[in-house]
Amino acid sequence: MNQANSERLFSLAQQYIPGGVNSPVRSFRAVQGTPPFIARGQGSRVWDVDGNEYIDYVCSWGPLALGHAHPAVVEALREAAGNGTSFGAPTEGEVELAQMICEALPSVDSVRLVSSGTEACMSAIRLARAYTGRSKVIKFAGCYHGHADGLLVRAGSGAMTHGIPTSAGVPDSYAQETLVADYNDLASVERYFEEYPGDVAGIIVEPVAGNMGVVPPAEGFLQGLRRVTQENGAVLIFDEVITGFRVAYGGAQTLYGITPDITSLGKIIGGGLPVGAYGGRREIMEQVAPLGPMYQAGTLSGNPLAVTAGITTLKELQKPGLYESLDTLAQRLTDGVAGVFQRAEVPGSINRVRSMFTGFFTGGPVEALAQVEQSDAGQYGRYFHAMLERGVYFAPSQFEAGFVSTAHTEEDIDRTIEAAEAALGELGSI
Ligand SMILES: *Cc1c(COP(=O)(O)O)cnc(C)c1O
Repeated sequence: MNQANSERLFSLAQQYIPGGVNSPVRSFRAVQGTPPFIARGQGSRVWDVDGNEYIDYVCSWGPLALGHAHPAVVEALREAAGNGTSFGAPTEGEVELAQMICEALPSVDSVRLVSSGTEACMSAIRLARAYTGRSKVIKFAGCYHGHADGLLVRAGSGAMTHGIPTSAGVPDSYAQETLVADYNDLASVERYFEEYPGDVAGIIVEPVAGNMGVVPPAEGFLQGLRRVTQENGAVLIFDEVITGFRVAYGGAQTLYGITPDITSLGKIIGGGLPVGAYGGRREIMEQVAPLGPMYQAGTLSGNPLAVTAGITTLKELQKPGLYESLDTLAQRLTDGVAGVFQRAEVPGSINRVRSMFTGFFTGGPVEALAQVEQSDAGQYGRYFHAMLERGVYFAPSQFEAGFVSTAHTEEDIDRTIEAAEAALGELGSI
């Protein structure tokens, strides 16, 4: 694979940008090698600066539910850009996107738009504390909620990939306010409520874990979190930055029928532009300034271009049958690849919830972080490169979700399965 241009750009990038990247997991440290610098994307495909073409299952880490450069999104953005890119004053588009979000998510009466998922989760936590007057927050090891100080404790995703369980620069006094429980283990949560009675403001959880790789919620786990928060006067925060408009139009809360108190969003609601949001019950959202005492603001919040991309994306996602066909397509992929693993006699376990999936290099089910950690990350790295060489772009880390978009076709999926067959055949002989 010719990577001359990417290699040149990557060495230049390393002079001017820490590690050559603006987000750590792009650096390929976990899988070694040079990240392809992407020149353009269309539908399910991206092309790098050396002209290599890839079927893309990263999809910008989740936002691109419609694939790259969807014509409706591009056209809407062209028009919006011509009308000015930012005003720092209210616009109609913000109301439209907020209304669409409230109508989609049963638990959300009103919503504040921000510019990233990090900001959304950071603000959701502040809101939970403002509302309850308590300080401690429970999160789960391996779940990632953006890089705000108190949430970078045993975080998943890049922090896990790079072996940085808790970031340098986070004061112990902050970290002490974060209680880390085990995903899919309700007893580990209940223990904290016993240990710190009246101190826990809330629980933040990815209702489908995506940032340690995909791990679905165990039967009864989310219901248990709902019950234990209710019994203890704490707030339940669903971090639906990935799952919102992904696992169902109405997010994981619709799929599993659980009503959280606060929801954080990002990724898909920006359609590939920077947007986040947090929303919830009216009584809770009334804490937010200017209505209430919890301060949160943003120069570019509700940015006209970003909300335009979001609105257009959500409208496309409302087409009848869309989530069913995405599900069928994603199942074709994971069934196909699971078959390849089996035939190659490579121990593998593929988790999927709707159009998000992860293949783990470990035998047996992956239902908790402990099993995720048994996955052979070295083998994943070799598989990753073997796939990349065959024109399939998965996440450059074992501990991430892959995504199928509406732009992927059965032909893309079948080519991917063929590539996996060849890749695993080659790896088996290594
Ligand atoms: C990506 C992600 C975030 C952070 O969003 P950014 O836009 O990267 O700041 C938060 N929570 C979850 C579940 C995510 O996947």
